[in-house]
Amino acid sequence: MNNRPTFSIVAPVYDEEEILPAFYERVRAVMEGLGQPWELIMINDGSRDGSLAIMERLAESDSRVRVVNFARNFGHQVAVTAGIDHASGDAVVLIDTDLQDPPEVIPELVAKWREGYDVVYAVRTQREGESWFKLTTAKLFYRLIYRITDVNIPVDTGDFRLMDRKVADVLRHMREHNRFIRGMTSWAGFKQTGVGYVRRARVAGETKYPLRKMIRFAWDAVTGFSYFPLQVMIYLSLGLAVLAVIVGIVVAVLRLTQGPDFFGGQATTIILLMLLSAFQLFFLFIVGQYIARIYDETRDRPLYVVASTRNFDEFPNVERSQRVPPIATRESVERSRNGQ
Ligand code: UDP
Ligand code: MG
Repeated sequence: MNNRPTFSIVAPVYDEEEILPAFYERVRAVMEGLGQPWELIMINDGSRDGSLAIMERLAESDSRVRVVNFARNFGHQVAVTAGIDHASGDAVVLIDTDLQDPPEVIPELVAKWREGYDVVYAVRTQREGESWFKLTTAKLFYRLIYRITDVNIPVDTGDFRLMDRKVADVLRHMREHNRFIRGMTSWAGFKQTGVGYVRRARVAGETKYPLRKMIRFAWDAVTGFSYFPLQVMIYLSLGLAVLAVIVGIVVAVLRLTQGPDFFGGQATTIILLMLLSAFQLFFLFIVGQYIARIYDETRDRPLYVVASTRNFDEFPNVERSQRVPPIATRESVERSRNGQ
């Protein structure tokens, strides 16, 4: 027998003192309803208010509450990462502490997991109590990310999700510094599905994602999961070159028909300038491609993720980071729980 919980709830906390007690109560009510062992991992991301004291009090009275206390504010995505690192459940649920993601949706995520899905993300079908500006920028953000990234990151989906242990293990081996958790979960693969929910207004306190942080976040998503910014150069370069040729032809024709002084002496200079710029952009694009490759190597993501194998007792010659246990069935989990 072991005392590993079935469910790990991961909640990042940054100045949420007004909400924490209510958050804990609602999570507890929901999780007790599921009737299986669970843990609540709260990460204190350098809160400046009384959040830590409240978390410690909760941990004191309930041993299922576990606290990871950061030395300073490292940011939401890093806090969630620490939570995944410390979670030991068969399924890991990421949820915000401000109750915008209602804990009551967790049983729906769990139901899908029991059906055999490895990642169940919660899709915001409606958002309440957020400004017009936040709604529009968020909508644009999700569509942009969907269009230009190389992995299919579902739209209108935040970090609120459930992932199977094997997906959590893949994430634990992705140590990139600029983290975009939802992209990373999509990247991991396995069977993924969504469940709709209404995103509530914040119960108290205010958003810790001002415009500045949102732009940074969007940039992490774009640079972490696409080479789009580097590829823009080739389009600009080709565009300029084509333009230079067209202008060249037009000027030549006009000079032949209207006389050699048409446009004065400017035209040749401008056309040459456009051609030169096109050349420079083209070689910058090439340099960019090399940088992209250096970036790939330094990021050191696993090359691939194995979901299952046949007729192998072990995983010979396979890096630990790529060694993901075969798809666990409910029965195999039960068996390992009973110590077999
Ligand atoms: N959060 C965090 N560190 C930060 C910013 C936010 O741990 O630097 C936590 C915050 O306490 C909340 C969650 O991340 O539980 C989501 O943040 P927030 O509600 O401010 O974002 P929004 O919902 O407005 O996008
Ligand atoms: Mg929020």
